[in-house]
Amino acid sequence: MEQIPAKTIVTKTKSSEWFGIDYNMNIYKGCCHGCIYCDSRSDCYHIEDFDRVRVKENALQIIRDDLRRKVKKGVVGTGAMSDPYNPFEKKEELTRHALELVDAFGFGAALATKSALVTRDIDVLQDIKEHSPVLIKITITTPRDELSKKVEPYVNPSSMRFDALLRLHEAGIFAGILMMPVLPFIEDSEEDMKLLVKMAHEAGAKFIYAQFGMTLRENQRIWYYDRLKEIFPKEDYVGRYQKQYGSYYECRSQKSANLYRKFVSECEKYGILYDMKSIIHAYKKNYEYKQMSLFDL
Ligand code: SF4
Repeated sequence: MEQIPAKTIVTKTKSSEWFGIDYNMNIYKGCCHGCIYCDSRSDCYHIEDFDRVRVKENALQIIRDDLRRKVKKGVVGTGAMSDPYNPFEKKEELTRHALELVDAFGFGAALATKSALVTRDIDVLQDIKEHSPVLIKITITTPRDELSKKVEPYVNPSSMRFDALLRLHEAGIFAGILMMPVLPFIEDSEEDMKLLVKMAHEAGAKFIYAQFGMTLRENQRIWYYDRLKEIFPKEDYVGRYQKQYGSYYECRSQKSANLYRKFVSECEKYGILYDMKSIIHAYKKNYEYKQMSLFDL
């Protein structure tokens, strides 16, 4: 795999509002999972040839130095710009070794992925959990495998992600679902939303964080529309998007208000958390005293 130079890998986040994450860590650049809606391929991120995964040179050494220099402990997040469990990770084990460093230096971890490979690292996550918060977000945008295979073609289908959630749950890891984006006209039916929440409950998901809609930047929009034409040649989804959203960045499902209301009621029925504040509170709650005493030193 091609290596690219990097000076630093673990960087402070601007705010910890997003899942209480204090630091970002991206070991890989680019992602080969092929999600048709991926925002990370947008021009503004300047990632050429996005589908080709590259790795940062001396990544583990840099991460070790970054973590050693941090004055404050906190939660290290990964999975924002590329999936940390891409197919190369199986052999490279860089995400695994980075988590071992996170553990050794006394930090917490928050991972976002669509791959069941995350379950390989349950033992390391359990070690981290002994001293710091751990949060796993598995993205699932549809409960239906046949649809997930179309919109997220090169990663495990939804059913395998639900299985991964169950394994994490059984191992005592705080895990839930990122249900976003929910593609307008394609994934935004009430029936699918209800089915997804039910399957999440059966898999022991602690939370679902949902947004009924998507964002589209200029070149991402071109890519997305081209894929829609290829995958659904008989449907005029592109025409419907153009009519409904024009060149808007925010493309909210027309049904979003109603869907969200019903989603909340489904989550409450099963005792699944759905708002950011409660999710952060729940996965960090047993560590507040320990964290405060560390910060007070
Ligand atoms: S897994 Fe994430 S980063 Fe990778 S293609 Fe899909 S949306 Fe993009």
